[in-house]
Amino acid sequence: MLRDSKIFVAGHRGLVGSAILRRLRSEGHEQIITSTRADLDLRDQAQVRAFFREVRPEFIFLAAAKVGGILANSRYPADFIRDNLLIQTNVIDAAYGNGCKKLLFLGSSCIYPKHAPQPIKEEYLLTGPLETSNHAYAVAKIAGIEMVKSYRRQYGWSGVCLQPTNLYGPGDNFDLQSSHVLPALMCKLHEGKVSGADQVTVWGSGMPRREFLHADDLAEAALFAMNHYDDDEILNVGVGTECTIRELAELLSRTVGYRGDLHFDTTKPDGTPRKLLDVSRINAAGWRARISLEEGVRSTYAWYLENVAKPAAP
Ligand code: GDP
Repeated sequence: MLRDSKIFVAGHRGLVGSAILRRLRSEGHEQIITSTRADLDLRDQAQVRAFFREVRPEFIFLAAAKVGGILANSRYPADFIRDNLLIQTNVIDAAYGNGCKKLLFLGSSCIYPKHAPQPIKEEYLLTGPLETSNHAYAVAKIAGIEMVKSYRRQYGWSGVCLQPTNLYGPGDNFDLQSSHVLPALMCKLHEGKVSGADQVTVWGSGMPRREFLHADDLAEAALFAMNHYDDDEILNVGVGTECTIRELAELLSRTVGYRGDLHFDTTKPDGTPRKLLDVSRINAAGWRARISLEEGVRSTYAWYLENVAKPAAP
């Protein structure tokens, strides 16, 4: 990408898209295009085609998606598969047809089989059954990857696919019904501290293991891939280390300053037992995550206090 290349960030208000936008701006890109959902509904093929015919972006970061935590995915599978299939199909096809030089598609670590050997290598894709709680979302993302690869194979078009692990950071979703574990627990523990609660509830057994990547690290990886990676093979993006949900809750308690107990509600689902990505392929290509979980959680909590937390009652 050159400084004056026309770059479209789809989903610029989300956790990932906003991080990519910050990064592009900080690197001095001058022609960054964004569009809000009110102006351009990416699920609507006619609108997407008209937008691409007019704007003709050269580079596209496809960070627009319907995303959510374990509860939202289990409750609304139809919304997850429909919206994601529509968004990605419309954008990829219109991009290809309107002079786009390269598109970056974001998948997810949940595309891999539930019982994949750990750490998960890219080649484990489609080697076993998926986790049930986010099956519909994962199948949509797998279709997106296959579409990008097929356009490369059939048309020689340059699309690349990154598979990020669980993400967090400023601009995350802190709504307890639809969020992922890290922002959800940050919010619950903060509210527990403010109200002086004796205990805060953590869903599941606390035993599942997850890997957490800061959105700013992912944004850096996305620009790295756009500039330096052009291959059919998908690329995992993660930090290469994991922790249990209990350990995460303890770290968050320390960060937030919550001193009460943790109650594990085992009527809630655990989801997949482990999800640690093998990041040797992207490391070998020249990129590595930089933000530690402690540091990332600290800065995200500062952002949360500034932007989300309700002011304490007088
Ligand atoms: P997943 O990585 O796709 O399973 O999605 P989540 O981030 O939603 O959940 C990760 C793990 O954290 C699961 O085992 C959840 O049961 C557990 N968890 C514990 N407390 C919470 C919570 O308050 N919200 C969410 N979303 N997950 C929680």
